[in-house]
Amino acid sequence: MKIQSIKGMYDLLPQETKNWKQIESILHKFFTIHGYGEIRTPNVEQTKLFKRIIGDETDIVTKEMYSWDDRNGDNISLRPELTAPTVRAFIEHNLSKLNKNTKLYYIGSAFRRERPQKGRQRQFCQFGVEAIGSEFPEQDVEIISMAYNIYEMLGIENLELVINSVGSDESKLKYSNELKKYLSKYSNDLSDISKKRYENNPLRILDTKDKKEKEIIINAPNILDFLTKDEIEHFNQVKRYLDKLGIPYSVDKNLVRGLDYYTMTTFEIRTDTIGSQDALCGGGRYNNLVEKLGGKSIPAIGFAAGMERLVMAISGKEETEDKVDIFILSIGDLAIMNALKICDTLRSRLGVNVRMDLSRSSFKSQMRQANKLKADYVVILGEDEISKNIGIIKTMSSGEQTEVPLDTIHKNFDIANNE
Ligand code: AMP
Repeated sequence: MKIQSIKGMYDLLPQETKNWKQIESILHKFFTIHGYGEIRTPNVEQTKLFKRIIGDETDIVTKEMYSWDDRNGDNISLRPELTAPTVRAFIEHNLSKLNKNTKLYYIGSAFRRERPQKGRQRQFCQFGVEAIGSEFPEQDVEIISMAYNIYEMLGIENLELVINSVGSDESKLKYSNELKKYLSKYSNDLSDISKKRYENNPLRILDTKDKKEKEIIINAPNILDFLTKDEIEHFNQVKRYLDKLGIPYSVDKNLVRGLDYYTMTTFEIRTDTIGSQDALCGGGRYNNLVEKLGGKSIPAIGFAAGMERLVMAISGKEETEDKVDIFILSIGDLAIMNALKICDTLRSRLGVNVRMDLSRSSFKSQMRQANKLKADYVVILGEDEISKNIGIIKTMSSGEQTEVPLDTIHKNFDIANNE
């Protein structure tokens, strides 16, 4: 019987990895010019890290994590997200000592045992940033605008930025009690999931997809009415800065996001171009997280974005072509040996993309390959040429052909290091 990949986990084949690498390299550059340094944390962490940070009662922790007992008795998990590991590493390595503001970004795998569908895998890749140190709205806006600009820069259409504020833990608690009071009138109309959430995590009911519950929620108390004056002022300042930057947004009082750790600003970016799983990225402040993990009381904000959904949103927009600089055509043993040598010499100068045929194909078929790969130059090493100790360099744009001595062919290509 054939062995297949695990449900919800996919292979990325060369055609796809090519696009991924391009996007990854744009992301690396983008984050670097904003002053963010890359962090790479392990795929596996202590389960208690996620329980403490994401919340004991969240879907992720209760039913989506891949967890097991290690041989030494520790319970460990594949990371379902990268904020908790990043904050763990921030504290473990005392990064606040180096800078007042620590700015980190990551690109890495995350694992959640969700029901797979388009845009939802069990292993997926998240990229994201965490800015740890500033409590001020300008930091919120740097993060939100970075997220928005990535998608805009990559030409994603129909972007929708939604923002909200859930206030401090105290405001959240006050609101949560009021929300429960309101929802208690509808307890018979709530789904089983929402009944459970009512007890453990009532704010999550605001995220409901259920039509009937959505109607109930329309008249639910508004979280923004439970924020303190300072919290409202922070939110207003975020909106003013976004206005100044010309970034369009709407406020959704029900945007609380699934993870427990958010305080104050929350946001999400969506597009209707990728199907029902339309969230490209989500983020917000988590002012208590560092302290909750045993660090100092340091405010922070970040976002996490799905790589697969970004690739999906881009696909079809920027079809990248397979293209080479030079194709070496070789007929006969001696020609093959020389072609191998020229390829080797040119490839050692990174930047030259050179190919040769490795299947002893006919002259005609090798020419077809060179055309398909849109080679700028073709080097012809036929039996005739080899016997005269030369090669022919053909410039494909003009059709011009030049005979050159075999052992100096590589010197005619000054493509390397010109970029
Ligand atoms: P979250 O950590 O749940 O806030 O998710 C942040 C982003 O990660 C989402 O907006 C998605 O783009 C992406 N994401 C989350 N879960 C999945 C998944 N199961 N499959 C693919 N992408 C996901």
